[in-house]
Amino acid sequence: MNSTMKIRYIGDPILRKKAEPITEFDQKLKHTVEQMVTTMHLEDGIGLAAPQVGLSKRLLVVDISPIVKNEKPQACINPEILDSEGECVEEEGCLSIPDVMEMVVRPESVTVAYQNVEGEKKVEKLSGWKARVVQHEIDHLNGILFIDRISPLKRQMHINKGRIPATY
Ligand SMILES: [Zn+2]
Repeated sequence: MNSTMKIRYIGDPILRKKAEPITEFDQKLKHTVEQMVTTMHLEDGIGLAAPQVGLSKRLLVVDISPIVKNEKPQACINPEILDSEGECVEEEGCLSIPDVMEMVVRPESVTVAYQNVEGEKKVEKLSGWKARVVQHEIDHLNGILFIDRISPLKRQMHINKGRIPATY
């Protein structure tokens, strides 16, 4: 029933496509969200974007409970960053790019507009880890990968070591 989804890896063209908005807030969407949360947990991820499981749709799930207390899984549909503040550096990884971990600079806090699984519009100001994960996942919806945000020198090192394909 709650089957898991197959992760798409770097080199798969779907990771470079701009994902399409979601317009139907139906039972099928709820099922997709449940499957994505299950897949994220099984893969030990703290965030997962729909293109990473082969769906070019503007949907992401996040669950930072492994690193922050009192958090639970959340789905953001058609998310948009309205405002951002500050700057911070943290080490990131990605389920679609195994074996690569690098420091990435991002805004420290972001105000995000999104819809929940019922289609209700929400605006939330995020900071800390949740802000970071949501920004990483929104990048996925726009065909951007975190390795695009690291230094070319470091990226080349990972290409040389075969962790990133030469045409990434
Ligand atoms: Zn990722």
